[in-house]
Amino acid sequence: MLRYREDWRTLLWAFVLFPAVGLAPYVEPRLIPWTLPLSLYLGFCAGVFSHNHNHTPTFKNRKMNAFFSAWLSVFYGFPTFAWIPTHNLNHHKFVNKAGDATITWRYSKRNTWLVASTYYFVSAYWQSSVIKEYIAKAKAQNPKLYRQIVGQYATLAVAQGGLLALAVALHHDAWWRGPVVWFFGFGVSAMFANWSMIFINYIQHVHADPWSEHDHSRNFVSRLGNWLVFNNGYHTAHHESAGLHWTKLPELHAKIEAHIHPELKQPSIFGYCFRAYVLGIFSDRYRTHQIGRAAYEPPQGGDLDLQTASVAAEEAGVNASMA
Ligand SMILES: [Zn+2]
Repeated sequence: MLRYREDWRTLLWAFVLFPAVGLAPYVEPRLIPWTLPLSLYLGFCAGVFSHNHNHTPTFKNRKMNAFFSAWLSVFYGFPTFAWIPTHNLNHHKFVNKAGDATITWRYSKRNTWLVASTYYFVSAYWQSSVIKEYIAKAKAQNPKLYRQIVGQYATLAVAQGGLLALAVALHHDAWWRGPVVWFFGFGVSAMFANWSMIFINYIQHVHADPWSEHDHSRNFVSRLGNWLVFNNGYHTAHHESAGLHWTKLPELHAKIEAHIHPELKQPSIFGYCFRAYVLGIFSDRYRTHQIGRAAYEPPQGGDLDLQTASVAAEEAGVNASMA
């Protein structure tokens, strides 16, 4: 059933932990302070799974893959097809250079907490045109793909609406109690899923060198951290072999790590954020600085076009993981 048997852990998280932790506040709202950190972590995982599943479908069976995409859309808080036009067909092609919808340097070339935390809005805004374009092309040329897209939107809306209704039905002694239970059960993790994927894209590429062979991405290499986030920290390896299953990334990272700039091999996300965004307030030493050639300095010179590059019609029609 699974293309890689190690994905049993993906399924355990997605089909057991996601709903169980989400429903815990429905049973006992006083659990919220305990479930909140777990919900945020699981939201991050929902983002990672939808990323992985779009690169390398989890199941052998196409219908199962379509079902899993719809299931993940509920917990990711956005239809997961959106990764295809903005990430697979755009970000992986341009890697933070002009044309990438998710460039980290659009309005500021500095890396401060203000830029990093507001990047979500910048990135989401600039991704929207290419998502719309992709939907329009699917509608015109690939009815099957279009049905899946509509199905993901519908699943997300019906499931989250149903979960909100259930919370209100169970907790109606005050008008606000049901919505609060839903928010801490499922709402906040789905919002965090979206925010954190865009945030991690920022910290994985800011001040890296997209023109270089191995210094185009920042890695977070702690073993425990990578176990928890299904090897999402090995970003150089991921960019160099996007179709490689997440279980194979540590092996590829080990092969290339000697060629990666030390600053681009951070032990953990938390340590990196603390240094760059907390200590960095007080001293420039702790902030990141451009490594190698900046994304906005093409070796051949010339003007930069910061519009999101459009998705080719045939790409929208022939996507293997969605077909
Ligand atoms: Zn990717």
